[in-house]
Amino acid sequence: MNPGLAKLNRSYTVDEVATLYGLHRNTVRAWFKAGLPAIDDHRPMMFQGRALRAFLQARRDGAKRPCQPGALYCCKCRAPREPASGSVVFEARIAGAGTLRALCATCGCRMFRRASEASLPDIMFGTPVRIVRGAPHIEERQPPSVICA
Ligand SMILES: [Zn+2]
Repeated sequence: MNPGLAKLNRSYTVDEVATLYGLHRNTVRAWFKAGLPAIDDHRPMMFQGRALRAFLQARRDGAKRPCQPGALYCCKCRAPREPASGSVVFEARIAGAGTLRALCATCGCRMFRRASEASLPDIMFGTPVRIVRGAPHIEERQPPSVICA
């Protein structure tokens, strides 16, 4: 998606933004909820091209940014976040590989990252990690957890 499609000095309705980028209007509403600023007191809701560009550019930059040591990517915050203290678990699978899970300290959402056991000290940078081995079937029997979309 090219943020530059929006003209800087034009204003766009939700439908126009959806058409411009070839998306569903619900996606545009999700952007609004995620922080895309609408023009004040305008009904129906409209967005400035300048704001659209800045918002999409920031998201694109954010997607490229690798996680810093001690941080995991939170799909709700859409950014690398510090895990809540004591929430970090490494589920060891085969050959030292596994999944690092934690809760986002900012929003409480689940975060995860594929990792190898050997890389944990580098990734978590001194953060205590509880290591769980095997028994993936137990996890699968648990009720569905809240996973951010
Ligand atoms: Zn979060």
